[in-house]
Amino acid sequence: MADRRVVVLASGSAGNAVWVEVEGAALLVDAGLPAEALLRRMAETGCAAGSLVAILLTHEHDDHARGAAALARTLGVPVLANEATLRACGWSCTVPCERIPNLQSVRVGSWTVEAVPVPHDATDPVAFVLEAAGTRVAVATDLGDVGEDLVERARGCDVVLLEANYDLRLLGVSPYPWFVKNRILGRTGHLSNDTAAAAAVRLNAGRPQRFVLLHVSEVNNLAPLARDVVAEALAREGRPAQVQAVRPNQGAEVRLEGRT
Ligand SMILES: [Zn+2]
Ligand SMILES: [Zn+2]
Repeated sequence: MADRRVVVLASGSAGNAVWVEVEGAALLVDAGLPAEALLRRMAETGCAAGSLVAILLTHEHDDHARGAAALARTLGVPVLANEATLRACGWSCTVPCERIPNLQSVRVGSWTVEAVPVPHDATDPVAFVLEAAGTRVAVATDLGDVGEDLVERARGCDVVLLEANYDLRLLGVSPYPWFVKNRILGRTGHLSNDTAAAAAVRLNAGRPQRFVLLHVSEVNNLAPLARDVVAEALAREGRPAQVQAVRPNQGAEVRLEGRT
C-alpha cells in the first residue's frame, strides 16, 4: 500500500494544495501557491511531476487558484473545474482547461472524480470525492456548512481532508474586524472545529478512517486544539478514526500504509 499517499503541499489562508496519488497517478486538488513554490514543494516531498494527471480546482479564491494556470502550462496537464469557477478565474485560452459538471462521476485517467457543491462565498465552490483502485479520498475545505450531499458521497472515505478553520472562542477574541468575523461565521464562510467535529462523526462509516484537518487559521485556531475537538467527538461516539491537524502554512504527509 506504499503506493498510496496524500501530501498536503500547503494549507491555510496563504495557500492550499493537496497531492493525492494512487498507483503512480496523482491529482492535485487546488494550486494556491505560485507555481515555482508548488514545484519546489513537490520536489522536496518526492511528488513526481510526471505522475500528475490533472489539477482540480475547488473554487477561484486566490489561496486555491493562484498557481493553477502557470503549473498547468508548465506541466502540460489540464485544470479541471466546473464552468462557473473556470469563468471566474478569467484565464486566457492558453491555459488547458476542462469543464466538469457538479454531482456527476467523471473519469480522469485511472481516477473517478466527483465535484460536490458546498456553501462558500465563491462563484460555484465544490468539495471533491476521489476514487482510484479502491482508495477513496474526500477534500472539503472552504465551506460554511456540511450538507447531506457531501455526507452521502464522502462517508466512509479512507481519508477525509476536512476544514477546521476556527475555534469559536478564539475567533470571538481575535483582532479581526467584525465584518470579517461575520463572513467567517456565516453559512457561506468557513467550518469551526465544532462543526468539523460533528461532520466527522457523520462522515465516519464505522470503519477506520483518517481525518486530516486543513485550512486551520493562524489567528483564530490552534492545530492541536482542532485535532483534540474532532478526535474527542469521534471517540465519544465510539468511531474508529485517526485525526491529525496540519498547522497553518505548513505541509504534511498522510501515510496510508497503516490504516488503523
Ligand atoms: Zn481558502
Ligand atoms: Zn475560499
